Amino acid sequence: MPGPVSQSYEPPKNHTVYCAFCGHPYPPGTPTSRAAILAEHIEVCPEHPIGAKLRAALARISALEADNERLRDIVVDLAHDLDNIARAERGEPLTERRES
Ligand SMILES: [Zn+2]
Repeated sequence: MPGPVSQSYEPPKNHTVYCAFCGHPYPPGTPTSRAAILAEHIEVCPEHPIGAKLRAALARISALEADNERLRDIVVDLAHDLDNIARAERGEPLTERRES
């Protein structure tokens, strides 16, 4: 009668583990799952599908942050213009826009 089936395979100690997508070797003794070093590689792996999605998401966040910064500058300029309109109505001197 066969013995119990192992649910997960762990390679022998000092056996080199490679990324299944790009072949990147991990240090000897790296477990095949649930290790931070594996997750860190996925972020930079050129072949891993989740890594590609993650990089695309990060690029999108970066673009949104740039949009947010431009919109903030527009709001600052508009607030300045509104302030100058109020100054003009009171007959006060106008102020210069911020340096951009
Ligand atoms: Zn890889």
